[in-house]
Amino acid sequence: MKQITILGSTGSIGTQTLEVIRQNEDMQVAALAAGSNIDLLQEQIREFHPELVCVYQEQKARELARRLQGENVSVLYGMEGLTACASLPAADVVVAAMVGMIGIRPVVEAIRSGKDIAFANKETLVTAGHIIMPMVRRHQVLLMPVDSEHAAIFQCLSGEHHRAVSRILLTASGGPFRGKTRAELENVQLEDALRHPNWTMGRKITIDSSTMVNKGLEVIEARWLFDVDFDRIQVVIQPQSVIHSMVEFKDGAVIAQLGTPDMKLPIQYALTYPERRDLPGERLDFGKLSQLCFELPDTDTFYGLSLAYQAGKEGGSMPTVFNAANEKAVSLFLDRKIKYLDIPAIIETAMMEHHTLPDPSLEDILEVEKEVHRKIEEKKGW
Ligand code: NDP
Repeated sequence: MKQITILGSTGSIGTQTLEVIRQNEDMQVAALAAGSNIDLLQEQIREFHPELVCVYQEQKARELARRLQGENVSVLYGMEGLTACASLPAADVVVAAMVGMIGIRPVVEAIRSGKDIAFANKETLVTAGHIIMPMVRRHQVLLMPVDSEHAAIFQCLSGEHHRAVSRILLTASGGPFRGKTRAELENVQLEDALRHPNWTMGRKITIDSSTMVNKGLEVIEARWLFDVDFDRIQVVIQPQSVIHSMVEFKDGAVIAQLGTPDMKLPIQYALTYPERRDLPGERLDFGKLSQLCFELPDTDTFYGLSLAYQAGKEGGSMPTVFNAANEKAVSLFLDRKIKYLDIPAIIETAMMEHHTLPDPSLEDILEVEKEVHRKIEEKKGW
């Protein structure tokens, strides 16, 4: 029986992970964690019987504990609760599916406790990849990508030598504003940005996809997962989201992974690797698939992508600044406090104002995050 902990169980990746567990009789839930959605968490507890849960917000955790009185489950809160879930002895695998840098400490704790990781929480790897990847090797755990692009690359690389790789071709749908100019994005409303053409995801990643900051985060994530430098990671727009990514090898061969857009595939593969199992769902119909198109990204309009390359190449604490500024800006945009185009502008300003720390510790990273958020909050007019 595989025992699974899900950090972020109430979100888009979390609920789809539970769907996968529901369909696999040899999988069980060890622990669940969420931010504040205790209604859904309570339903999940009733169905999956974890021994431990964490609700990040203390008040909500207390309310949930009241509701669950007499039941065989412990309820914790805060960072201590998250790390307790991440390191629970009974668990074999931790699914890192919370959104944002809040995932860093729990992921580090899970690796330290020898858990394999099914990894969706890209912000953690973007900011602390230089700490996490050596830990993964030291503790000999498996870090399986859940992000569909990285899961695709992982599959393309299967059985290949690292030295045979020429380029990683990271595909992107281009999002809802593909083909628009910067001027045309001036008055974009929240509802427009939340309308992704091909995927249904959490709110933050949906906005990130529309600005292409998500693709920037994925470029940095790919650099850490596959140990390839930035000049050999190219973003290619593939509007149908059928090709999930590709790898070009030294001899010119390009291997791609294709499929319908369904996150349950990379989630299940991460949990059953190296085994492939049945997965109900739609299949690609090559009789109906009339075209596959490709184009290069417009990095003038979507300059968040260029900023990501810049932050990644600079390294040290700069990717943390890129990510922290984006997290803050997106949350302000979701609260309708700033305009759409303020998002990349805020990131650019934060990066310009920062003096890079070359090899930041975990504490440095969290300090830089706080500092970036503080500066953005202090600025008037946003
Ligand atoms: P959602 O917003 O749908 O879900 C986020 C989850 O994180 C929720 O369970 C939320 O709990 C939880 N959470 C938020 N804050 C905290 C906290 N402080 N402590 C504990 N849990 C917390 O996001 P997604 O599922 O879309 O994305 C999750 C991660 O996966 C992101 O890093 C994203 O980039 C990545 N990803 C997502 C994909 C997708 O298809 N959705 C694809 C590839 C990667 P609550 O509900 O209580 O707020």
